[in-house]
Amino acid sequence: MKRPYNFNPGPAALPRVVLEQAQKEFLDYNGTGVSVMELSHRSTDYEMVHNQAQEHLKELLGLSEDYIVLFLQGGASLQFTMVPMNFLEREKLGNYILTGVWSEKALKEGMLFGRTHIGGSSDAERYSFIPSIDQITIDDQDAYVHITSNNTIYGTQWQSFPRFVHAPLIADMSSDILSRPIPIGDFDLIYAGAQKNLGPSGVTVVIIKQNLLVKSQENLATMLNYQTYSENNSLYNTPPTFGVYMLGLVLDWIKGQGGLAGLARQNKVKAELLYEIIDASDGFYKGHARVDSRSHMNVTFTLPSEDLTSQFLTQAKEEGFLGLAGHRLVGGCRASIYNAVPFEACEALARFMSIFRNNH
Ligand SMILES: *Cc1c(COP(=O)(O)O)cnc(C)c1O
Repeated sequence: MKRPYNFNPGPAALPRVVLEQAQKEFLDYNGTGVSVMELSHRSTDYEMVHNQAQEHLKELLGLSEDYIVLFLQGGASLQFTMVPMNFLEREKLGNYILTGVWSEKALKEGMLFGRTHIGGSSDAERYSFIPSIDQITIDDQDAYVHITSNNTIYGTQWQSFPRFVHAPLIADMSSDILSRPIPIGDFDLIYAGAQKNLGPSGVTVVIIKQNLLVKSQENLATMLNYQTYSENNSLYNTPPTFGVYMLGLVLDWIKGQGGLAGLARQNKVKAELLYEIIDASDGFYKGHARVDSRSHMNVTFTLPSEDLTSQFLTQAKEEGFLGLAGHRLVGGCRASIYNAVPFEACEALARFMSIFRNNH
């Protein structure tokens, strides 16, 4: 069966072999005679799935014993709330670096729980770049510094990360987690909704350092307290079992791709294919992101007119390219080329873009 080239921004493409594996064991997981969805979350079979997914994440990211991997629900959006709820101490500031709509939403939640500070922003330039270290103000006393590592809507990505000695660094990595190696030791909390790079929607991965975890506020609602998840191995209540199972399959697949270094190499090649077409188009395609801030996950570009944009999108759809419309805030087009989007899809899109440009 020929499937379309899937450039959906999220939920997004999953590796074909992962889908096939899930299909193969859909009715009978591991000889249990039932689907993994029909297993008790207290069963040994499910516990294996759960613990192995955690172990594989630890391995891929090179996490030391200082870190705990948690599985939550509520998406990245609930993390916008849980982070300040748990860690915005009364006498301190939650420092937010604004690089797009998702960081704005995180800030909005922070403001509900305490005092905040905008330590840097590219808002005035339509979020077309990532502020450099000298454009950022932080204070050792900040409760935390919050960044969005990849800006899904604008197509920008932090190329290197700021290091702070005292203030904990918290990152929303929903759209680029496990797409490249990162200096994990510099981060105190990372969160990601699964539906871009990790699996289906429904499970949210939170990776948290012990030092930060112990600072979480007391008297929080049980389900909104990170301690509840940590003390119960994310099994206080029923976790999103099917999502965790799929996550496990995706992690296996990532190991087979050469881990994060292997994926980073592939992602760079894929992104460059598209950026080269944009740069060689004499201004026909205009990248939204400044060159030094370009994302390897979401390639955003506009065409010379609304009319050409809609022709481009219509024709692309006819030729089997899915999900290329840009977000309404940026307009134009966006190709989301997460880990699971194959090289061939990017190659086909580059060819299509080149032909479309020549014909117009
Ligand atoms: C998609 C996305 C979100 C929203 O995730 P939900 O799981 O839908 O809450 C947040 N942050 C970033 C960077 C995203 O790409």
